[in-house]
Amino acid sequence: MSNYHYFSDEELKGLDLELCAMLDRARGLAGQPFIITCGLRTPEQNAALPESVQDSAHLSGHAVDLACNDSELRYAMLRGLILAGFNRIGIYSAHIHADNDLSKPPNVCWYVEGS
Ligand SMILES: [Zn+2]
Repeated sequence: MSNYHYFSDEELKGLDLELCAMLDRARGLAGQPFIITCGLRTPEQNAALPESVQDSAHLSGHAVDLACNDSELRYAMLRGLILAGFNRIGIYSAHIHADNDLSKPPNVCWYVEGS
């Protein structure tokens, strides 16, 4: 039995509890499946990713990447994420990044082409 409506405890393993609660709310609001492609990263995993930043929110379990390469799904997911309180969102060609890292600037949405 999971602590969340839409995710197993295994899917959210190692992630910040507030992030998990926000993500569960966002998933419900979006009404679309959220497929987590990346959650908590070790420093080694993070360093091996070409587009990652050294102080990535993934290192502290404050970030998730969600599979998305479709415009209608992207809209539904972004709507859910924003309504659930996410104010740091990255849009990539095949995923959406969302984090609740309070050490980073809020109210930002960035776009990375071709990754
Ligand atoms: Zn990410």
